[in-house]
Amino acid sequence: MVSGPSGSGKTTLCRRLADEKEAHYSISCTTRLPRDGEVDGKDYHFLSRKDFQSRINAGEFLEYAKVHENYYGTLKSEVVDQLAIGTDVVMDIDVQGANLVRSCSDTQIKTALVDLFVMPPSEEELRIRLTGRGTDAEEVIALRMRNALEEMEHWPEYSYRLISATRKEDYLNFKSLILAERLRVSRLQ
Ligand code: 5GP
Repeated sequence: MVSGPSGSGKTTLCRRLADEKEAHYSISCTTRLPRDGEVDGKDYHFLSRKDFQSRINAGEFLEYAKVHENYYGTLKSEVVDQLAIGTDVVMDIDVQGANLVRSCSDTQIKTALVDLFVMPPSEEELRIRLTGRGTDAEEVIALRMRNALEEMEHWPEYSYRLISATRKEDYLNFKSLILAERLRVSRLQ
């Protein structure tokens, strides 16, 4: 489970791990509109509010939360089915969702759970990264900046924290964490 503010680089880390076949990337559902280049069914399952609500009613979500005025949720099928066949799952998830997953009672999920918070090295760097993406309007960036600073206060709730440096260093550290966790004898605390 990887959390961190927009611009922390967490999605890139999760995606790369999946691209290298080290884990299954849990494709979330969201009610937000796709950004340029995003593909339905690959980046997210893009749903209308109505469809999202139907899936809530059907009990399909492991967790869901409202983030940046939109709903985001992890499908049980994306996680449970993969863990059952022995594949690690990587989830890009906000702090509310992470809390919900931590408190779930499924032993398989609890046993597999590792939580990491990724954060930018400074507020200034965060601002540069949020602006640099260039796909969002100014007020969206301002909202994300406020949300990011608020979200960053939650890092002490995580077992691991990665302060982002270069992409290469970040991935090396991330991969080291995954490898170490795979060697761990006791996972349930
Ligand atoms: P973005 O819109 O930039 O892709 O994502 C916004 C936020 O939603 C990020 O903090 C991301 O981690 C979070 N997020 C993505 N998928 C999920 C999910 O399935 N559940 C929850 N709770 N948050 C998610």
